[in-house]
This record gives sequence, structure tokens and C-alpha cells, in this order.
Amino acid sequence: NADTALFRAKETGRDNYAFFTERMDAEIRDKLAIQAQLRGAIARDEFEVHYQPQMCLRTGVMLGAEALLRWDNAVLGKVPPNRFIPLAEEYGMVNAIGEWVLESVCAQIKLWHDEGLGDIKVAVNLSAGQFGHDNTVAFVEATLRHFGIAPANLGLEITEGTVMGDPDKAVAALKRLKDIGVSISLDDFGTGYSSLGYLKRFPIDVLKIDKSFVDDVTTNANDAAIALSVISLAHNLNLRVIAEGVETRAQVDFLAERGCDEMQGYYFSRPLAAPAFTALLRQPRNLLAP
Ligand code: C2E
Ligand code: MG
Ligand code: MG
Ligand code: MG
Repeated sequence: NADTALFRAKETGRDNYAFFTERMDAEIRDKLAIQAQLRGAIARDEFEVHYQPQMCLRTGVMLGAEALLRWDNAVLGKVPPNRFIPLAEEYGMVNAIGEWVLESVCAQIKLWHDEGLGDIKVAVNLSAGQFGHDNTVAFVEATLRHFGIAPANLGLEITEGTVMGDPDKAVAALKRLKDIGVSISLDDFGTGYSSLGYLKRFPIDVLKIDKSFVDDVTTNANDAAIALSVISLAHNLNLRVIAEGVETRAQVDFLAERGCDEMQGYYFSRPLAAPAFTALLRQPRNLLAP
């Protein structure tokens, strides 16, 4: 936190004070540069959606993909979404970006569909700012209709953070989305403050076990216990469960043996640009094969 950093810097002397203010200046400059560049990013066509396969563990079949936004800017280079999405939220730009993502994904699903590449389901991450908008549900519906896509081919990923601002409004919006037939995943499960309360209130179809529990699941007894509990919790609530950030065969086997339904991670594939993902759809490989 900047204030406590400043406070501590003052305590420890002038040199540190100068160091911390310089660092804060740099941080602010950095943020302002991102803000300035974000403004024209859609018009300059600097965004691209990448697709990461989500695998069924029982059959080895790819069930769908998560859409992950990429930004490549002439001045700043590649900026990761963990960096620019929160700033886009702060600057009120996240709704425009979110709508761009949804339209790109739906256009892509339509292309795959027209090519006969099957019923791929794509999950799109939603931001908090999008739930502040009364329009979000209507926009999703209109976009599906515009591209002629079945709602079952679209999923939305939310986190506690997404819905925290106005949970009542979010519950209402999610219920409408679910009524249309769009499925809802609770992302980063277990990393927030009140995951269980949200489970009770929100109309959710899928729980995503956060990568932080998957990383050491085969070596750390606590992580293993948490992963197992999330799997049984999900199944007892009639939800499907997907592990994210799966990188090793040992993690695959461990989670598969314990009934995890789906997985996603570098072990199977990194997020791929549309052409590479299309190639994967044209020539299905068993990504589960040892
Ligand atoms: P997330 O939704 O939890 O996405 C999972 C992140 O884990 C992605 O990072 C993905 O590339 C990464 N990942 C997947 N498998 C592995 C693995 O095996 N190992 C490792 N080390 N990482 C893995 P990414 O693409 O950098 O996205 C970060 C976050 O940014 C996302 O977390 C999501 O919260 C947000 N984000 C990305 N795209 C969008 C978007 O279109 N809209 C919104 N609102 N947020 C987005
Ligand atoms: Mg996600
Ligand atoms: Mg996640
Ligand atoms: Mg995450």
C-alpha cells in the first residue's frame, strides 16, 4: 500500500523517501501511459482473443475453450490482462473492451460453426464493470442472436470480485443469463473471502479450482485436501469442476483419479491465437495421451 510505504520511507530516512517517491512516480507514469494507450486500442485493432482448450478427463475430448484477451501495443509492447484489465476498470473502459471480446468470440464461434468444426463452447471472462451495466444481459442476448449462436455455446466466467460491487444486481443478471442457456463458471474458486456464501446465492454451473491449489497438489497435503474438498463440494451441489493451471502429468493423474471433470493448463495447451486453435479443431489430437 502506497501510504504505508511512504510512512515507512519517512521513518527510515530521506534516501528511502526519495526512492519510494520515485518508484511511485514511475508507477503513476506507467498507469497513465496504459490509460492513454488503452483509449485507442480497440480502434487501432490491438486486441486479440486467444483460446485455451478445456479438456474432458473422462474421454480426453476437448469440450471447449476459455477466451483470454491479449493486448499488443506499439508503445508499450505486450501488456498482460492482469495488468490492463484492472486499469480499464478504474478508467471506465472495461465495458467497451468486454463488449469487443464478446463480439470477437461470437464471430469466431460462428466461423467454426460454419466450417463444421463442431459445437465448441467458449467461456468469456466478465469484469466487475460489466455487472454495473444494466445492458450486459441484453448485450449478450443481442450478440448471440446477431451471430446466430446457440446460448449453450457460450459460457461466462465470474469471480467474487466481479460480483462483489452489487451482488443483488449480479444475481439477477446471472439468473437471466442462465435462463437463456448461457452457463456460468465461478473462477479462481477458493481465493476470495466468501466463496461459500457466493456458491449458495449465485446460479453457477461450474467451479474452477484455482491454479494456486493445483500447483502443489501432488506434493502438499493441504493443497490436496483443498482440491479434494472442492471436487466433492462441487459434485454434492451438482456442479461440474474444472482445474486450472494444470502443468504436469502427475497433476492430471492425481486430479483425474479423484473425479475432477475437466482440466485446463499448459500441460494440454497454452492459450492459442484463433488460427492455431482452429488447426487443433480441424485435426483433433488426444491431448490426454501420455
Ligand atoms: P483467469 O480467468 O483465471 O485465466 C487463467 C490464467 O491462467 C490465464 O492468464 C492463462 O493464460 C493462465 N494459465 C492457464 N493455464 C496455465 C498454466 O498451466 N500455467 C500457468 N502459469 N498459467 C496458466 P492470462 O491470460 O494472463 O489472464 C489473466 C487473467 O486476466 C485471467 O485470469 C482473467 O482474470 C483476466 N482476463 C483475461 N482475459 C480477459 C477478458 O477478456 N476479460 C476480462 N474481464 N478479464 C480477462
Ligand atoms: Mg477465467
Ligand atoms: Mg482463473
Ligand atoms: Mg485468475
